[in-house]
Amino acid sequence: MPVRGGQCNARPGLVSVREAGASPIGYYFAMRDRPLKFAAVLQALKEHYGPPDPLPTHDPFELILLENVAYLAPPARRRDAFAMLRRQVGLSPADILAASPAALQRVTAHGIMKARFADKLRACARIALEVLGADFHSVIHGPLPKAKKALRRFPGIGEPGADKILLFAGAQNLLAPDSNALRVLARLGLIAEDKSYARMYASSRELGAKPALKIAAMQEAHLLLQTHGQTLCKRNAPLCGACPLATRCPHRLYSR
Ligand code: SF4
Repeated sequence: MPVRGGQCNARPGLVSVREAGASPIGYYFAMRDRPLKFAAVLQALKEHYGPPDPLPTHDPFELILLENVAYLAPPARRRDAFAMLRRQVGLSPADILAASPAALQRVTAHGIMKARFADKLRACARIALEVLGADFHSVIHGPLPKAKKALRRFPGIGEPGADKILLFAGAQNLLAPDSNALRVLARLGLIAEDKSYARMYASSRELGAKPALKIAAMQEAHLLLQTHGQTLCKRNAPLCGACPLATRCPHRLYSR
């Protein structure tokens, strides 16, 4: 039975080192027969971090702005920038195009390269108005390839970014992990490590499709994995001692 801090901590689908016999070989055979379950990992993360704060919008154009509003800023600062944009400029394409460069740069100064990202906000507004026009929402809620193609016209939106916008707009049920979340999935053995980011991302797509989560639960899964990758399961020197998954994590066991 999985154990944390000496207390019984049963969660279906989780396999502890103690259960496996506390040796790498025992753990290998236990994991081979009973690998970590995605749903159980999400449950453990939710118990540890609590329910994640929802994103500040579900509107697809506003989600595009959120991606571009504060380059390389941490999540809380990005939300502050987005709130300032809403308050001082407005969030429609017309609002953005009517704003002065100084007003936009006060917002994008929450991240780095404020002038460049102010230009990107204007580019987002132009694309939304001139290229996609009133059709934008129907395109986003239409077939996946067309929706992704439309989103990838915007600055800073690659395939994972397009998937994320479709997930949080409620248009598609995709896990859409960012690089932090992808690292967590690989360390926990839920997807295979691979030198190719594209192959790892494709594996995560299969993983996200398996448990058939509803969209709200998938949005929560995305945010929980991202939070874990940013908070404890950092790229360098993960803080495994504080991790709720430490007793069952293959990465931790084999890196000791
Ligand atoms: S035990 Fe360490 S490596 Fe494993 S998921 Fe937790 S923080 Fe990441």
